[in-house]
Amino acid sequence: DPKAEALAEDLAARLAKGDRRALARGITLIESTRADHRRAAAALVRRLHAAPRDAVRLGLSGTPGVGKSTFIESFGVRLADQGRKIAVLAVDPSSSRNGGSILGDKTRMEHLSRHPNAFIRPSPSGATLGGVARRTREAILLCEAAGFDLVIVETVGVGQSETMVADMTDIFLLLLAPAGGDELQGVKRGIMEICDMIVVNKADGDLKATAQRTRADYAGALHLLRKRGQDPEGFPKAIAVSALEEDGLEKAWEEILTLDAFRRENGIRDHKRRQQAVTWFRAEVEERLLRRFRRTPEVAAIWPALEQSVGEGDTAPQIAAAQALAAFGLTGDET
Ligand code: GDP
Repeated sequence: DPKAEALAEDLAARLAKGDRRALARGITLIESTRADHRRAAAALVRRLHAAPRDAVRLGLSGTPGVGKSTFIESFGVRLADQGRKIAVLAVDPSSSRNGGSILGDKTRMEHLSRHPNAFIRPSPSGATLGGVARRTREAILLCEAAGFDLVIVETVGVGQSETMVADMTDIFLLLLAPAGGDELQGVKRGIMEICDMIVVNKADGDLKATAQRTRADYAGALHLLRKRGQDPEGFPKAIAVSALEEDGLEKAWEEILTLDAFRRENGIRDHKRRQQAVTWFRAEVEERLLRRFRRTPEVAAIWPALEQSVGEGDTAPQIAAAQALAAFGLTGDET
């Protein structure tokens, strides 16, 4: 498609110059479901694939109210003032449910959103979690092509979205609020296992002592989860910060750089990115097959009745599945 190629060529050239409007336009193409947009987005990703990718990809998760936007605002403005280029992308599974988006909302990061060295993009609404993941992975490539040094991918602390974000970033941070020791169990073991650093926020005023205790509790728990060979001494690490009072943010950045440098030098970062690429490839095929399957008219026509029948106990799930696949053209022997 020459039109898609021409658009991709133009956008790629503008991205290489750090043009933020081209970046926004490129991400819009990626999020679009229109066939010509999809072709242009694919052409753009193909062009950018070989581009150098040296940004630190940082995943950041935390439940609502823990201080994610305050942290990103203070942390981001500080780094942007130092001349670094910061992009913030959001993965918000709730946006697919209620059609609205909260994460990555620019009003939550007022100064950063106006900073010439920053780019903030909210989570797309109305997309499936798989769709949001694809868009975010591709958006990371675009941000890197546009010369951003740090790409923060923000998500709320619920369910699958954290694993998904950890699967597309180099370093994963979990932001926590100060809490009594018995709440330590509140963080699922699976989340502890994927996180490289726990950042206990709100270590200020009345909460400071509690925050320090919480930090120590988690440091102990993390110590047992050290990823041997992947982590330098002392990681995964727990630190305490105050995003509001901008305390400990420099330290947080130093720790991130230490971990990143270690993993780059040991080839761990590139190995991890290659594994992530394979995961991405698999997810891409599954996502596309599923979309094609669901949109097949013969399948769509019988789908509601099959679900109802299975739900009422009239048809066994595996029998209904075989019928749906048969409608797609696959017989029992093939599946
Ligand atoms: P998010 O939902 O995770 O993005 O959380 P917000 O950044 O919106 O913060 C939720 C609330 O916690 C707001 O009232 C913030 O002012 C407050 N908050 C955020 N960071 C800090 C901090 O470091 N110290 C204190 N005391 N409050 C904070």
